[in-house]
Amino acid sequence: MMDKNKLINTLQTKGFHVEYFDTSKEAVKYMTDSLSGKTIGIGGAQTVKQMELDKALMQNNTVYWHWLPELIEKYGGSKEVNKLAGSAEIYISSANAIAETGEIVNIDGTGNRISSIAYGHEKVYFIIGINKVTENLNEAIWRARNIAAPKNAKRLNQKTPCAKNADKCYDCNSPDRICNGFLILERPMSGVEMTVIIVNEELGA
Ligand code: SF4
Repeated sequence: MMDKNKLINTLQTKGFHVEYFDTSKEAVKYMTDSLSGKTIGIGGAQTVKQMELDKALMQNNTVYWHWLPELIEKYGGSKEVNKLAGSAEIYISSANAIAETGEIVNIDGTGNRISSIAYGHEKVYFIIGINKVTENLNEAIWRARNIAAPKNAKRLNQKTPCAKNADKCYDCNSPDRICNGFLILERPMSGVEMTVIIVNEELGA
């Protein structure tokens, strides 16, 4: 069971801003109250979709998200949307796992998400459901590789050995492999304000 106080204290000690909400609804309100008139990039995140955070933020901000067909059409392709997301003032992502010892783990296939988390924005927000909290970094890496990635491969209908049952990682050599790079954040990157929003709900893969 998650040690909420340990996670919050550890993240704060490391320099992350932390917010905790019992519901997605409260988290969406916090985000819409915090952000207005901004350009906002969003990485691939089932969590954001589940919360309908993109729709809420679009009311008062300019959002770039390559998961929205209307934006792909408007900006001439998903790569173009990702370029705009990568240079937005604000970036929003989830995480594949977060350890109570304070590390945030993400796996990426194309690199847009991990590169945008790491560089180029005034503020980065991570929105993370409690299902993604692990005790330590090893478990976080294991979770990212063996739970989050196979579930995502299945959802994306990838032709990978993990996609059929979403049971574990087979460390495949498939052209559809979605796990090409890891980003493990130990601390916020220099010069960037990073906020971790923990939501007491199961969100994302
Ligand atoms: S490396 Fe391949 S088998 Fe392992 S989770 Fe990623 S896509 Fe699936």
